[in-house]
Amino acid sequence: MVTERIRNIGIVAHIDAGKTTTTERILYYTGFSHKMGDVDDGTTVTDFDPEEAKRGITIYSAAITCAWKNESQGLPEHKINIIDTPGHVDFTAEVERSLRVLDGALVVFSAVEGVEAQSETVWRQADRYHVPRICFINKMDRIGADFNRTFGQIVNRLAGHPIAVQIPIGVGAGPVPPAFVGIIDLIEMKALYFDSGTKGREIKVTEVPDEYREAAQEARAELLEAVALLDDGIMETYLSTDDVPVDQIHRLLRVGTIQGMLQPTFCGASLDYIGVQPLLDAVVRYLPSPLDRPPVEGEHPNPKKRESAHEVRKCSPKEPFCGLVFKIVADQHADLYFVRVYSGVLKSGSRALNPRTDKKELISQLWRIQADSREKIETDAVEAGDIVGVVGPKDSVSGDTFCDAHHPILLERIAFPETVISMAIEPDTNAERKKLADVLLRLGRQDPTFTAKISEETGQTIISGMGELHLEIIRERIQRDFGLKVRVHKPRVSYRESVKSPVEANGVFHRQTAGETHYAKVRVRLEPYAGAEAVTVINALKPDQLPAELVPVMEQTLREEAHAGGLLGHPLMKVRLTIVDVDYRRSETNEEAIRAASAAAVREALKASGVVLLEPIMKLEVSTPDQFLGNIQADLNARRAMIVNMEPRGHLSVLEANVPLSQMFGYSTQVRSLSQGRASYSMEPLNYAEAPAEVLREMMG
Ligand code: GDP
Ligand code: MG
Repeated sequence: MVTERIRNIGIVAHIDAGKTTTTERILYYTGFSHKMGDVDDGTTVTDFDPEEAKRGITIYSAAITCAWKNESQGLPEHKINIIDTPGHVDFTAEVERSLRVLDGALVVFSAVEGVEAQSETVWRQADRYHVPRICFINKMDRIGADFNRTFGQIVNRLAGHPIAVQIPIGVGAGPVPPAFVGIIDLIEMKALYFDSGTKGREIKVTEVPDEYREAAQEARAELLEAVALLDDGIMETYLSTDDVPVDQIHRLLRVGTIQGMLQPTFCGASLDYIGVQPLLDAVVRYLPSPLDRPPVEGEHPNPKKRESAHEVRKCSPKEPFCGLVFKIVADQHADLYFVRVYSGVLKSGSRALNPRTDKKELISQLWRIQADSREKIETDAVEAGDIVGVVGPKDSVSGDTFCDAHHPILLERIAFPETVISMAIEPDTNAERKKLADVLLRLGRQDPTFTAKISEETGQTIISGMGELHLEIIRERIQRDFGLKVRVHKPRVSYRESVKSPVEANGVFHRQTAGETHYAKVRVRLEPYAGAEAVTVINALKPDQLPAELVPVMEQTLREEAHAGGLLGHPLMKVRLTIVDVDYRRSETNEEAIRAASAAAVREALKASGVVLLEPIMKLEVSTPDQFLGNIQADLNARRAMIVNMEPRGHLSVLEANVPLSQMFGYSTQVRSLSQGRASYSMEPLNYAEAPAEVLREMMG
């Protein structure tokens, strides 16, 4: 398939707007779903599959490939990759990654509920990443559906630029007013009636009925004006003939969509098979191909070899290969790594460099995922612009880059963030301990901002992440995707410790067993230090002071000690440890002695320096209609928040603040009640800052 005919899209929606149903219908018309599924009896391809359900994991959740052509509209076959976008919009890293790998989005709204909080959040994120969009106003068959109201909300609440290319015929389920039965195509000025008896496969096309003519003409005039504004020549044609040729309308809608200046807007009822095929035409017609998107940018993984600030790869099979792992899905035997290929060609049987680990990963198999069968790609190679599932890599995590080892590039700078919140988790029954450990390991690979470990003191399994909601989602996934019942304890903020002033201390190890003496003495300096890493370790010994193989042992011990925690038991951060001196005796100093003496030196140094308690600070962004701004601000002040910015965005006010995580438990409930559910927020870890003295006092007992 030529790259020009590939569409990488995401379908985004507020929960219950009809994302699953619309996806189902798309898969049905594109021929990959033999049996039409229904959300309500649990038979949809994307949501349910008996095989998958048994395993409890859905491999379909990453990307599905289908094909669409429409000869009657002169559209040749196109390949559409539908990329799953996470349902929870509050967890930014994953949402942002999925927005990065798709080229365009189909935004589904419910004509009854209109624009809801979640749609606002996704819309803003899509704005930030310049993702072109088309809109689908679904559920036109429901009582209370209103095309114009929802359309107006896209303008007012989202500051969008929807352009109606259809208007509905009828609304609701009838008889009064007449039921929703079809749509008017404003471009060709035709009425389309969908026959639900044939599952919408038969479409009756007629002239626009008299009672709709005026409304259709008005709406068409707005459409023509909008496209004419994009092209001076066409504007002249429009002003002189009062019309724009159909092919020019399509062309300009495409230009406007790709530039983010407008969003062609459609309507229908996917449950009743109304309006889905025109939507597929629109995906192909207006959403960008990979070639329409700017070249991908990254940096050379080795700072010393960097020739320019940015490495750029064009979407061409002739460029060196690079791609981004955007999702890892646990499959029966091996994990499946989903990769968006940005440049070059990815071949099965090859090796790709992971610049983060500096290791080469084996690309043993390439799979394309189709809704009803997982099918191996026959060509064994995938070109720039496409998406594929890879089996073979072992040491990579979601967000990693794969690239040609001779032309390294790092697409996403991954600073693995410090986790800020933790909670204890345990399986419902003791027999499932091993299963839980296995599930947590896999989850950690799929989501590098999540970690799990066993507490040395209590033996409990502790999971850590980026926020209350993040851990809540993980807990849900363990139960839903892996069928494992778990209990969790209250989440707690993860504190860190630093030190007050520079100190030096000795650690000595001296033991005699069975006539043998083991001895080592180590001197370290411990001091506050803001380095790139949480803990910086420096070796200041002279080369002949210690055998070379013992140096890494020492350095590793210092790191482990720092991680194990300071006087209060929290991992150290913002410190530097320097190995100042060592007393080495050839016959008595072995690895064990060096370890023990190094650890003792760190302990002594900690006692000598004062404790500084650090707490996680979150970067919070709240967007709210103006009338609730006062409430939200007052509440944030009471939470020790520092408000750093406030600005209007569209018809909303956006407030940015830095606030201690310890003050933010239960914020989602609070923000809802302060704004009648209208405000939305996102929150991500910013840094660690010194905690107030009373928190430290409390902790010291
Ligand atoms: P999602 O949460 O966005 O994936 O939404 P679903 O596709 O699961 O749909 C939520 C509910 O709305 C289900 O009960 C669907 O049957 C129903 N639904 C979806 N589309 C339509 C539609 O066009 N008309 C009506 N009446 N119901 C719909
Ligand atoms: Mg769904």
